[in-house]
Amino acid sequence: MNYIFPKLKKDFKNDDSISNKIYQLIDKLTEETILERDEFLYILDNITKKEMPYLNDSAYNVKYKFYQNRVYLRGLIEISNYCKMGCKYCGINYKVKTIERYRLSIDEILECCKLGYDLGYRTFVIQSGEDSFYTDNLLVDMLKRIKKEMPDVRVTLSLGERSKESYQALFDAGTDRYLLRHETASRRLYEYLHASFMSFDNRRECLSNLKEIGFQVGAGFMVGSPTQTNEDLVEDLFYLKELGPHMVGIGPYLCHEDTELKGNESGTLPESLIMVALVRLLLPKVLLPATTALGSLHTIGREKALKIGANVMMPNISPTENRALYEIYQNKICTTDTSNQCRNCIEGRIVGVGHEIDLGVGDHIDLERVTEND
Ligand code: SF4
Repeated sequence: MNYIFPKLKKDFKNDDSISNKIYQLIDKLTEETILERDEFLYILDNITKKEMPYLNDSAYNVKYKFYQNRVYLRGLIEISNYCKMGCKYCGINYKVKTIERYRLSIDEILECCKLGYDLGYRTFVIQSGEDSFYTDNLLVDMLKRIKKEMPDVRVTLSLGERSKESYQALFDAGTDRYLLRHETASRRLYEYLHASFMSFDNRRECLSNLKEIGFQVGAGFMVGSPTQTNEDLVEDLFYLKELGPHMVGIGPYLCHEDTELKGNESGTLPESLIMVALVRLLLPKVLLPATTALGSLHTIGREKALKIGANVMMPNISPTENRALYEIYQNKICTTDTSNQCRNCIEGRIVGVGHEIDLGVGDHIDLERVTEND
């Protein structure tokens, strides 16, 4: 296994002075919600399995203070696997020829929402590759229909980079939240992982625009991507602190053998979980999903994330026949289940680790968008 946190490599145990310094830094982060760069780096360079329970408990306690053991559920609809972008790690980027492409019509998306509504979900996450088929007009029509038929729901879009005008139109039509992972805050790594026509600066500008418009914004990054260093991950932490997103999605890099990055080792669960815990301490009130990628990496990856600070899960409500085609990485879980099965499975997992499901809209604790229909 290719750990980037060097002391996780084997049963390495720090001497007490190093362990104590890590505990002190975790306490400082808990209290001040920020560290110096070299202090974050010290944790990443030196942490072993011995100090992880202390970090995990600290992160869990912070989550509990604001959200207790509640887990918000979002119904996830993957509406299209067409994508014009060239993220070299992604199994549906425009260069991948081995995948059959699909897209859902607005009527089909509405059907998924209604199914999700009947299952109790009050937030829908509508996600897609960057597919120009979905024009502003089409999406505005979709949003209006969703909000008209289900006035008490929140809608989250995750449709990639768009112009500020487009984001504004989507916000005005009733979108509550927008997810756009920054993927990495290191310019060097961003440029390594993406096609040359993609722009690190534009990605950041999109995130600034989304915040400025008033969305609840989600950013996020991958852990363990090829050539990533601990310094790169520290950049992610500083960028998140500066941006102040309402949600942060953290997932391991998972290698897809039909992409340009084939043959690389995937990220690891312990490293991904350490970053989840650090982000909980950095942004105490943030909404933090136990991502599907964590569940794909390890059978109980998502449960482990809940126990260290995650508080959101996203059961899939896409049509079952399309799910396997949204293959951003290989061995993705939940691709053969029905929406009902996903609902039951997720509930069992949440309850199994002493948490409870919350079927409310699950806004960020500091920012509730009050609509006429609330
Ligand atoms: S990560 Fe997103 S934007 Fe990038 S290729 Fe995949 S679907 Fe497209």
